[in-house]
Amino acid sequence: MSKRRDPSKPAQVCTLCDKSSDLVDIMIPGPHGIFICEDCVEICNALVRFERQRKRGEERRLPNLLPPQEIKRQLDQYVIGQEHTKKILSVAVYNHYKRLVQGKPTEADDTEIEKSNILLLGPTGSGKTLLARTLARILDVPFAIGDATTLTEAGYVGEDVENLLLRLLQVADFNVERAQQGILFIDEIDKIHKTSENVSITRDVSGEGVQQALLKMLEGTISNVPPGGGRKHPEQHYIPVDTSNILFICGGTFTGLENIIGKRLGRSAIGYAKAAPDRSESPEHQKGRTLAKVEPEDLVTYGMIPEFVGRLPVVSALMPLDEADLLRVMTEPRNALVKQYQKLFDLEGRRVTFTPDALREIARKALDRGTGARALRSLFEDIMLDLMFELPSRPEVKDFIITPDMVRGQLDHLTDTRTRREGAPEPDRKPAAPSPRPLPAQRDSA
Ligand code: ADP
Repeated sequence: MSKRRDPSKPAQVCTLCDKSSDLVDIMIPGPHGIFICEDCVEICNALVRFERQRKRGEERRLPNLLPPQEIKRQLDQYVIGQEHTKKILSVAVYNHYKRLVQGKPTEADDTEIEKSNILLLGPTGSGKTLLARTLARILDVPFAIGDATTLTEAGYVGEDVENLLLRLLQVADFNVERAQQGILFIDEIDKIHKTSENVSITRDVSGEGVQQALLKMLEGTISNVPPGGGRKHPEQHYIPVDTSNILFICGGTFTGLENIIGKRLGRSAIGYAKAAPDRSESPEHQKGRTLAKVEPEDLVTYGMIPEFVGRLPVVSALMPLDEADLLRVMTEPRNALVKQYQKLFDLEGRRVTFTPDALREIARKALDRGTGARALRSLFEDIMLDLMFELPSRPEVKDFIITPDMVRGQLDHLTDTRTRREGAPEPDRKPAAPSPRPLPAQRDSA
C-alpha cells in the first residue's frame, strides 16, 4: 500500500464509511471536522445520477432495429472478412432485439423467445471485439467490455461479476433501462475453463466458480450492482439491474480447442479423417477451419461447464486474417489507418502516400508478430514517428511517399522524401473510397 498520509498528522476518518485516510488518496473535509472519502463520493455520485434518472422517468429509447441484411451491410463498412460470422451475428442480433422491442409475452401467446447470447472464437486481432463494438454502434445501444480473467467467484480476491454490469450502467449514465438493453462483451472467456490445478486458497484459479457466477447473469436475473464497484458488502446500497435483455457476447482464442475438435472429427467423420490437409493453406488457416466445426461438447471437453455452454447458443469461429486481409484492413474501413494518417497530413496541407509494396511490407511485419490486425497500429506509429516529429518544422516539404525500405527501417524518412515538383507525375495513390454514412458517436467503457 502506498504511503498516503503525512505520518506527523493524525489519520482522518470518513464520516460515512469509517475508512481511514491511510486507505484512500482523497479525503474531502466538511464543516465541524467531518470528512468524506473519495470512495463514498463516487458511490453517492452514482446513486444521485441513478435517482435523477429514475425521478425524471427514464428516457425510453428502443434500439435501432434494422433487418439482418442491413446490419451486415453496415458491419461490412468496418469489419474486413469474417463473412460467415457477420451473417450469424446479424441474424442473432436482429432476433435478440426484435424479442426486446416486442416486449413480454401476453397471456394469449405465452411463447417466450429465449435470448441468444453469442460466443466468438478465434485468434487475437481477428475482429471479435470490433464486431461486438460495431454492432452496439449500429443498434445505438450501450456497450461495455469486461475481461473474464479479472473475475473471481464471490469470496475470493478479485472482481465480482456484477462489476461488468456497473460498466454498462456507467456508459448508460446510470439510465438502468438503457443499460438493460446493452451489449456486454466479455473477453478471454476461454481463460476461465476448469482446470485441475486449483492451488490457491485466495483466488479461484479453476475458473469453474466464475463460470457459475456468470451463469445467472447470462440466463437473465436481477443483479444487485454496487454503484461504487469493488467487492460487495452487506450495508451497501445496490442498483438492481435486470439482465434478461442484455446481450452477452463472449470472446476467446481457445488455444488448443482445434485438437479436441480434430480428435472428435477424426473419430466420427470418416470423410474428415481421410481428407488430407490442404498444403497451400497456412497452419493458422487450417486451425481456423477446424475451429469452425466446433460443437458444444468440444467446449465442455475444453473445460467450460455444460450449463455455461448452454447459455451461449450462438457460436461462431473467426478466421485468422492473412496478408490480403491485412492490406484491406489498412485501407478500406471507414477509419482505416491509412485514411487516418492521410487526414492528419491533410490538416497540415500535405500529402502522404504509401506505395502498395510498403503496405505489403507492413502486412508481412504484422503477420510476423502473430497478433493479427492488432499489430498494425503500433507498426504505423513506429514508421511514422520520425516523419511526424520533423514535419511541423519543415514547411517546404509537401509530399511524402512511404516506401518498403522505410518500413524496413533502412531509409530515413526525410532524406528519402521526395518533394513533388510542379508537373511531376502523381505518385501512385489509391483514391480513398467514399465514406459511408457516419454512425452516431458512442461512449463505451473500453
Ligand atoms: P480481437 O478481439 O479478435 O482480439 P480486435 O477486434 O480487438 O481483435 O482487433 C484489434 C484491432 O484490429 C481492431 O480495433 C481493428 O482496428 C483491427 N481489426 C481486427 N480485425 C479486423 C477486421 N476483421 N477488420 C477490420 N479491422 C480489424
